[in-house]
Amino acid sequence: MKKLLPTSTAGSLPKPSWLAQPETLWSPWKLQDQELVDGKQDALRLSLQEQQQAGIDIVGDGEQSRQHFVTTFIEHLDGVDFAKRETVRIRDRYDASVPTVVGAVSRQKPVFVEDARFLRQQTNQPIKWALPGPMTMIDTLYDAHYKSREKLAWEFAKILNQEAKELEAAGVDIIQFDEPAFNVFFDEVNDWGIATLERAIEGLKCETAVHICYGYGIKANTEWKKTLGAEWRQYEEIFPKLQKSNIDMISLECHNSRVPMELLELVRGKKVMVGAIDVATNTIETAEEVANTLRKALKFVDADKLCPCTNCGMAPLSRQVARGKLNALSAGAEIIRKELSI
Ligand SMILES: [Zn+2]
Repeated sequence: MKKLLPTSTAGSLPKPSWLAQPETLWSPWKLQDQELVDGKQDALRLSLQEQQQAGIDIVGDGEQSRQHFVTTFIEHLDGVDFAKRETVRIRDRYDASVPTVVGAVSRQKPVFVEDARFLRQQTNQPIKWALPGPMTMIDTLYDAHYKSREKLAWEFAKILNQEAKELEAAGVDIIQFDEPAFNVFFDEVNDWGIATLERAIEGLKCETAVHICYGYGIKANTEWKKTLGAEWRQYEEIFPKLQKSNIDMISLECHNSRVPMELLELVRGKKVMVGAIDVATNTIETAEEVANTLRKALKFVDADKLCPCTNCGMAPLSRQVARGKLNALSAGAEIIRKELSI
C-alpha cells in the first residue's frame, strides 16, 4: 500500500557555508571550476541525507546546484544577454536589474538533467525536481525581442518541455514548475498562463506539479503580504481553471498565511501539497501545529491526495532551523496518519 500523506519540500534548502554564503538568498558561489562541480554534488548528497534523516518521503536536490530558481535556468539558454541589464518590476512588487531577451530563445543542451541523474543514483525514494514556470520566467526578464509576454511564455514553455522530458527519462518522478507569478497576474494566468504551463508538461508520463506561493520570506514579500488584507483570496482567481488543467499536483502556502482553507475545495480532485511550514520565520513549528494545518486541509482535500509540504523554499534559513522544520513536518504528518488509521 502506498504511504498516506507523503511529505516533501517546496524545493530549496540551505546550502553549506563552504558552498555559498549561508542565510542569504541567491548568494554567489564560493568555489570555482571543478571544485564548484564537486562541491555542488557534495552539497546535494548532504541535503538529501538531511531530508532522509528527517523522514521526508519525496526527496529533492535541495536546489544545491542552482543560485536562483529562475535565472540559473535562463543562463543556460540562448537569446538572453546577461550583460545587457534593465530594471523591471518583478511581480508588480519590487524593482530588480534583469537580463535582456535579445533574440530567439532556445536550449542548446540540457540544464539540470545531469544533476537529476546524480540525485537518482543516490536514492530509490521518489524524487521531485523543480523548474521555473513560463510566466515566472518572463517576469524576471526584459524582453527586447518578442515584445510580447505571451509569445515569450510560449517559447519558454517549449524549452521547458524539452528539459522536462529529459528529466523524466533521467528518472524524476515529479516535475514541479514554480509559478509565484500565478498569484499576481490573474487575467494573464487565465488567458494563457495555464495554457503555457500545459504546453510545458505536454507528453509527460511522470507526475507534474505547480508551486504557487506568496514568495520567500524576504522584505518585499512580507511587506506585500501586509497589504493583502484579512483574507488572501488570490488562489480563488485561478483555481477553477487549474482544476480543469492537466496538472496533477498543486503546491500551496497554507500555514501562517491568511488563505482561507475552503478555497482548496476549488481544486478538489487534484493532489495538493499543503504548505504546513512557514519559511518566513525562524520559529520551528511544533508537530501539533503542523498536524493542525493538515487537519484543516483534510476538510477540503481527500486524504489520498494530500501531501504535507513547506510553504516555499527554505534556502534563506539556517541549516539548524531548516532541519527542525523538516522534522516537525514529518512528525506532524505522522500524527495525522495515526488519526486516519483509527
Ligand atoms: Zn515559493
